[in-house]
Amino acid sequence: QTDLEVKQIAQHLPWYGPEYSPHDVPNFYDIAGITENPKVFRKVIDIFVNRYKALGDKGPTRIAGFDARGFIFGPPIAAGLQIPFIMIRKVGKLPGVVATSGEYQTEYSTDESSIRIGSVSREDRVVLIDDLIATGGTALAGIRLVEAFGAEITEFAAIVSLPFMDGVKKIHEFDNGKFKDVS
Ligand code: AMP
Repeated sequence: QTDLEVKQIAQHLPWYGPEYSPHDVPNFYDIAGITENPKVFRKVIDIFVNRYKALGDKGPTRIAGFDARGFIFGPPIAAGLQIPFIMIRKVGKLPGVVATSGEYQTEYSTDESSIRIGSVSREDRVVLIDDLIATGGTALAGIRLVEAFGAEITEFAAIVSLPFMDGVKKIHEFDNGKFKDVS
């Protein structure tokens, strides 16, 4: 691509600003390579469904997905397990009475998440899912929101992890090593 083409694309990205060269944008990890390949997409969903089915009575009672690409992977997993899918959305987008996380930093933005009050309760075991973990800001906001309702976190799952961004480390600092890493 020419510099002009790169610039035209970069201008539409959320982290673009006058202080950045178009070449400075973070590497964007695109999960379209999975969703546009039905066999691979099916395989990814099956891995998670089988993983949670194998937990039996201790398996999750809710799958909670993060706005927006957690909404791609969460619903088919929830449907496969025949359990509800819960939306963790950016503030201002969920109808009804919501709880909000407070602001947090992600790799390229400042965000705030919300969850509908009543969508999780203290009887629930919840899997949180997103496409990618970078700094862990998004994951931690979701974990805090779900735990605020007294629910148990089964695990946080992501399709892609950026180890150089320390997100997984941040989760372990928060949970005191309770969660185990599984790749
Ligand atoms: P973080 O809160 O920093 O862990 O960022 C994770 C969230 O931001 C996820 O919802 C991702 O969809 C998105 N995200 C952050 N960095 C990237 C990246 N390099 N490529 C794709 N998505 C990203």
